[in-house]
Amino acid sequence: MLSKLSLLRSVTSVYSLTPAIKKIQNYSTMSKFDMPDRYRGNDKSVWVEYIQLALKYKPLNLGQGFPDFYAPENVTKALAATTTSENPLLNQYTRGFGHPRLVNAVAKLYSKILKRDLDPNNEVLITAGAYEALYDTIMGHTNPGDEWIIIEPFFDCYVPMVRIAGGVPRFIPLKQKKTSGIISSADWVFDKRAMERLFNEKTKGIIINTPHNPVGKVFTLDELQFIADLAKKWNVLVVSDEVYEWIVYEPYQHIRIASLPGMYERTITIGSAGKTFSVTGWKIGWAYGPANLLRNLQVVHQSMVYTCSTPIQEAVAIGFEEESARFGQPDCYFVSLAKELLPKRDYMAKFLTDVGMSPTIPEGGYFMMANWSGLENKVKLEEEQDANKDYRFTKWMTKNVGVQGIPPSAFYSEEHKHLGEDNVRYCFIKKDENLQKASEILMKWKSCE
Ligand code: PMP
Ligand code: GLN
Repeated sequence: MLSKLSLLRSVTSVYSLTPAIKKIQNYSTMSKFDMPDRYRGNDKSVWVEYIQLALKYKPLNLGQGFPDFYAPENVTKALAATTTSENPLLNQYTRGFGHPRLVNAVAKLYSKILKRDLDPNNEVLITAGAYEALYDTIMGHTNPGDEWIIIEPFFDCYVPMVRIAGGVPRFIPLKQKKTSGIISSADWVFDKRAMERLFNEKTKGIIINTPHNPVGKVFTLDELQFIADLAKKWNVLVVSDEVYEWIVYEPYQHIRIASLPGMYERTITIGSAGKTFSVTGWKIGWAYGPANLLRNLQVVHQSMVYTCSTPIQEAVAIGFEEESARFGQPDCYFVSLAKELLPKRDYMAKFLTDVGMSPTIPEGGYFMMANWSGLENKVKLEEEQDANKDYRFTKWMTKNVGVQGIPPSAFYSEEHKHLGEDNVRYCFIKKDENLQKASEILMKWKSCE
């Protein structure tokens, strides 16, 4: 009689002699440990790569978008007070779809702005940053084969989210109608006829981002109305990523597409406490829109994170309440932040021009695109391996000059990456002394042969 162990050994050795079975064994072992198909091709992230690069080379970091100065005291103090509050429940789980104090504050503010009553419990969802609001929106509304129209350059996570949900991104680029002299983000426009041609029976929706990352474009009423009319004609959703809603430079004005006639019903608007209160590490965001659309986001949210950090939501709520009380006044953070950033924007535009780049002056947000092609002979692009020139430029600059930017081709589809390659994206929500250092480093580099 064979023992159980030797029986197993003999079966295994017979199997191991059979190539077909070996292949099946290998396949099954590989497939169990491999990334699921829906994530394949979505594994590259400019943030993962460039944050690692910054850690290694320690450049002056004008790459990833975050302030290098203190957040407003009212919110940081509110957070400190919340964690040591006499109410022990402020450190425990809160309502899944949003901490009551925060959904009330968010609903109150946007009710006033949109001139309609938002129901805090059904028309607002609090999320782990705007990222999660985008994820819930896309996952909660996409069936396999649904098409999403995306304007290039786009905040890079839109595309993997659409693909992972089984959807199909359809792209339309913003193109510069002017390439010399002083260039404004208003000079980056989409072709209306090309946009029109993308809409069809399979279109689920369009994702817009205003003020725009990375171009800084603040979409005009005419552009938004054109998009709104197409959305109504084809009965599709609009996802409006408005994380930079308060960072708009005079005389431009942020227009919420949800405020246009007949648009609230089909629009999900997304915001970020990270951008609103200069606390990107807090990772609290929100989505607001009609209850029937928000319900689909709630279902994704409840089966993923279920609820977000209570003390951070409480502190953000206090921030909202305080800023809402001084809404529109010069000391309201929603007004003062853009005023504080304006000289930084202009300073960066000047030093980038002096160094030989051609910047696009943003109407909003805190990024600046700059065409670096005039400096190509000063850079040893051949020392870097990447397929796209802007990746080679930004990596070479990080390692050899000590200033980091982000390669804009990361914000384009494969077929349009060349449109981003002559540019670099720099972030200017930085201390004046750091912007000055960046200027000095670049000017010194320019002056040496
Ligand atoms: N959308 C855009 C356009 C962004 O630039 C960012 C980065 N802040 C996000 C969404 C994500 O925001 P959050 O950090 O709140 O997740
Ligand atoms: N939104 C920020 C940027 O564009 C941060 C992005 C990120 O860290 N994923 O720089």
